[in-house]
Amino acid sequence: MWQLGLRIVERLQKAGYIAYFAGGCVRDRLLGHQSHDIDIATTATPEEVQRLFPQATGLHGKVFGVVRVPFGEWSFEVATFRRDVGSRDGRHPDHVVFVPPAEDAYRRDFTINALFYDPISDQVIDYVGGQRDLAEKTIRAVGDPNQRFAEDKLRLLRAVRFAANLGFRIEPGTWNALRIQAATIHQVSVERIREELDRIWSGPAPARGLDLLDQSDLLLHILPEVSALHGVEQPKEFHPEGDVFLHTRLLLEQLHSAPLPLAWAALLHDIGKPLTKRVDRNGRIRFFEHEVVGARMAHAILSRLRQPNQLIEAVVAMVVNHMAFKDAKQMRPSTLKRLLARSTFSMELELHRIDCLASHGDLSIYEFLRTKLEELPASDISPPRLVTGHDFIALGVAPGPLLGSLLETIREAQLNGQIQTREEALAFASRLVATPPATPH
Ligand code: ATP
Ligand code: MG
Repeated sequence: MWQLGLRIVERLQKAGYIAYFAGGCVRDRLLGHQSHDIDIATTATPEEVQRLFPQATGLHGKVFGVVRVPFGEWSFEVATFRRDVGSRDGRHPDHVVFVPPAEDAYRRDFTINALFYDPISDQVIDYVGGQRDLAEKTIRAVGDPNQRFAEDKLRLLRAVRFAANLGFRIEPGTWNALRIQAATIHQVSVERIREELDRIWSGPAPARGLDLLDQSDLLLHILPEVSALHGVEQPKEFHPEGDVFLHTRLLLEQLHSAPLPLAWAALLHDIGKPLTKRVDRNGRIRFFEHEVVGARMAHAILSRLRQPNQLIEAVVAMVVNHMAFKDAKQMRPSTLKRLLARSTFSMELELHRIDCLASHGDLSIYEFLRTKLEELPASDISPPRLVTGHDFIALGVAPGPLLGSLLETIREAQLNGQIQTREEALAFASRLVATPPATPH
């Protein structure tokens, strides 16, 4: 990718234009990180870029000075050095004007993102002190932070995301402006908010992300339910670590580039506790079915953020199921196998592990389940069914709830090892039809 990008820059420079790599890819290279894309900035206008690269597409971006150039097996964004004009919606420029490179650096959000690099001469072009801030691990707005956040509220979250994911501090002036404007984050679309949150939770340091969101009050405005975990005390014997917020934070501290559903489940696993907390006659703290209430809350929160259904379902399943693990050692074989067969089981097990580590520290159930998972062959955890509805219909049972519960009874007996073959299952089925179990209503 780097070599292909270099050839685009070379062709632009040979034609007499200034052309550099720009922004995130320069930052990533100086940090020694892998970039997922390369943006190129040039004095050539979109029309001029297209003359040099007839394959250029995305000319709808032309008014903003951006075209896409497919090159080799890759595709590059080539943008004319520009300045944004106006921002009536608090997010997008009204239009752009083409400017010299230095001015293009000034429109960028943070100094570490405002660097250019000439791959031909191997030189970094730094108009804003970005190299120093990279060396000092600092997120600093380019220019006046209040104004820069006012122009585009997404930058509030980008600052937190870069600080968390890169392990940087936020410079005090930038931090103050961020805190002052936190309440205006809702000018950003929920999709963009979701994208930034996803990248924080599934990044290398989600606990640091949580701290920054919390201390800036962005958390209060985006995820007030998580903010409400502060000060919710729990029984000390299970939770020596402190209130529900601190406990949740400790879970996140153990996640590093985790799968997204696991990260969201860790954040939301105890979200039902504030609403379900009761103190009984003996002064003991109880949370009444908090995982059931929590699962509904997780559903509402993730739907509000327009998360895809698949993620919502996985997180809801983990939240509602995470308390079931504590009884794993006493479970019937059938119940245990159904638990192990769940599609989210490996993430649920990991959630259970970090939940224990973040509280009492007892990992015996985790070890028990991990051993079971290793010992039991997949064919035993989720064996093919021995009978179908047709078998019962052949025995004279009409389709309906009774048939469903008969099938369930056979499945239960199979998972408990009471029947193993189709013949045994059919014999059992005949006996059941003679004396059917109570139907559920
Ligand atoms: P990543 O791709 O890892 O999210 P990035 O810095 O490359 O990081 P992009 O969204 O790809 O982020 O943007 C490319 C560059 O465009 C940034 O480095 C920055 O210079 C500029 N930029 C992006 N978003 C903004 C914004 N909201 N305000 C100002 N400049 C921005
Ligand atoms: Mg990028």
